[in-house]
Amino acid sequence: MTETIHTLVIGGGQAGVATSTHLQKLGVPHLVLERARIAERWRTERWDSLVANGPVWHDRFPDAEFDGIDPEVFAPKETVAAYFETFARTRDLPVRTGVAVTGLERHGDGFRATTADGVIEARNVVVATGPFQTPVIPTVVTDPGISQMHSNAYRNPGALPKGAVLVVGAGSSGAQIAEELVRAGRRVFLSVGPHDRPPRRYRGQDFVWWLGKLGKWDLKAPTPGTEHVTIAVSGAYGGHTMDFRRLAGLGVTLLGRAGAYRDGLLQIAPDLATNIANGDRNYLSVLDEADAYAKAQGLDLPEEPEARRFMPLPASVTDPILALDLQAEGISTIIWATGFKLDFGWIGIDIFREDGRPRHVEGVSELAGLYFVGLPWLSCRGSSFIWGAWRDAERLAAHIAARP
Ligand SMILES: Cc1cc2nc3c(=O)[nH]c(=O)nc-3n(C[C@H](O)[C@H](O)[C@H](O)COP(=O)(O)OP(=O)(O)OC[C@H]3O[C@@H](n4cnc5c(N)ncnc54)[C@H](O)[C@@H]3O)c2cc1C
Repeated sequence: MTETIHTLVIGGGQAGVATSTHLQKLGVPHLVLERARIAERWRTERWDSLVANGPVWHDRFPDAEFDGIDPEVFAPKETVAAYFETFARTRDLPVRTGVAVTGLERHGDGFRATTADGVIEARNVVVATGPFQTPVIPTVVTDPGISQMHSNAYRNPGALPKGAVLVVGAGSSGAQIAEELVRAGRRVFLSVGPHDRPPRRYRGQDFVWWLGKLGKWDLKAPTPGTEHVTIAVSGAYGGHTMDFRRLAGLGVTLLGRAGAYRDGLLQIAPDLATNIANGDRNYLSVLDEADAYAKAQGLDLPEEPEARRFMPLPASVTDPILALDLQAEGISTIIWATGFKLDFGWIGIDIFREDGRPRHVEGVSELAGLYFVGLPWLSCRGSSFIWGAWRDAERLAAHIAARP
């Protein structure tokens, strides 16, 4: 069966829903195909206790508030998924769920998408299949006695085998998972690489507010050299600054970057103190910029000198472990919170760079009629976040509507 539609949107997460909303507003006939359910990754590819990293007033579409929730709260992931679902249903967005697109080819001056339900031909295609697609696990640990998983498969402490846990990666996922595990009474090792760790709140304002005021959401590209610097931030437990000294105080043993695994030993780089110092520097730089902004704008915000006081460095930083004996430490589980890569293997069109990203300008690909939305840094730092995808989707929908 072949169906024809003017514009096909592939993926029904927040970016697909946002794109559909803007296409609908402009009267562009379209269809969204979602392989599972709306916002599936929020439902089944995140841990149970995850809450949004930004408060409800910020992490939402500008068109709709979260019903009945204090705007300062960090919404649980089910609430976020339900928000997108309700948003799509109440606006009658044409989302067809349970249909995976398995192939995309050029067809005349348009495109042909293959699905299990048949073929769909479209003049335009918007790919909205997510910024975080395929888990990356950088090191091979060949020990059948150790359970290993990526952070997207971690659910809760009770679902792990008994024993100590090594969490590799201390961005938002790894740091939050390590904290949950240590609070649940687990012995936890956390491998901390280069990271930024902005203050959760400063002078009475959340850091997402500060990022907006300081123009950081609108940055066009990461500062050169910081492409692999992860960001450690958390809305858990009401939201607090991700401070690795505090985690160590809760009982987490901090480690430098995890390296190769040989004969039961995981090599650990001697970079922990440097990573912590650079994270502190980043934290303080945000405070400095915020202070300078508040002064320049004459903002009447309460001073917060205590935000600049750090606890002493823990022993795991001053006397670091450089090789971790997994058995001797009783480690039964490794959680790789080591990020994701893109996987567009199902798109049979020569539009990708060597690093797997599409060749595009702010989501408009080199090939007329083919668009991408929701990717990290698509047009700016905000692009993979809820309201950032909304803004990009609005611009791309207008581009589609204006195509001759
Ligand atoms: C742990 C974690 C926490 C995050 N927290 C926040 C936060 O608090 N606030 C925030 O703004 N951002 C957050 N993000 C970033 C981002 O908002 C989410 O990753 C979000 O899920 C991205 O939405 P998306 O629509 O672009 O992609 P996804 O949510 O990944 O949606 C893509 C959709 O496409 C579908 N799909 C994929 N391939 C196909 C195919 N071939 N055919 C049909 N359908 C397909 C998938 O099933 C999925 O539903 C977080 C990310 C992670 C990993």
